[in-house]
Amino acid sequence: MDPAGFERLQQNVAVVRANIAAACERASRSADSVHLIAVTKSVSVEIIRGLYDLGLRDFGESRPQFIWDRKPQLPDDVRWHLIGPLQTNKARRTLPMIHLLHSLDRWSLADWLADEAIKTDVKCSATIEVHLTDEPAKSGFDSDDLRQNYSRLLANPGIDLVGMMAMARYDDNAETCRATFRELRELRDQLRQAHPTGPKLEVLSMGMSNDYQVAIEEGATHVRVGTALFEGIPSYGTPL
Ligand SMILES: *Cc1c(COP(=O)(O)O)cnc(C)c1O
Repeated sequence: MDPAGFERLQQNVAVVRANIAAACERASRSADSVHLIAVTKSVSVEIIRGLYDLGLRDFGESRPQFIWDRKPQLPDDVRWHLIGPLQTNKARRTLPMIHLLHSLDRWSLADWLADEAIKTDVKCSATIEVHLTDEPAKSGFDSDDLRQNYSRLLANPGIDLVGMMAMARYDDNAETCRATFRELRELRDQLRQAHPTGPKLEVLSMGMSNDYQVAIEEGATHVRVGTALFEGIPSYGTPL
């Protein structure tokens, strides 16, 4: 990266980190209870390297192919997060490369993971994506379906359930996203209470550039931030 771009990236990272710390303070949480995942789907490998040099290690991609392409170009201590849909025909190649699948979003994927685990003994760490808005295009489990059939996921040998993920409806006013984040947290609490011997579901993956501060106030442990990190940085060949 050129020095001006790198300097701007450094400033943006500092602003996001300060905002995370302030939101944690408001919520009486410790700042290290929130993991910043840099969503790099719209930037070049060069910018990802810049983020790496600034100390970031968690990168989120919405497409498996991006992880296939980029992982070999970055150091091994990077944790790759898949935050977009995983087609089962891409899953076998993708699973060994990722730290966390945020988008366990449907039964057919869960079933595929179960079959795969029986063959290979591989378990995938995942958060359950829940569809909480009325936008028809968004993916994720329906919350009633999940409440009724959660034990099916618990019994799945291919999935290590670590938490829940959701996206709020995009709104310029972050406050309107608060209800969605609260709903995800409450759904998590209900599932945990109904299955006291089940996983603790500690991860709440929620909050993007326009609403991560509100998400943290509502309990987010992982925020997925893209745009806010790249403001003012000239495009280095926008991949997406
Ligand atoms: C793109 C994306 C993000 C990041 O969005 P920004 O508004 O750029 O911060 C977060 N989560 C998911 C699932 C995404 O696809």
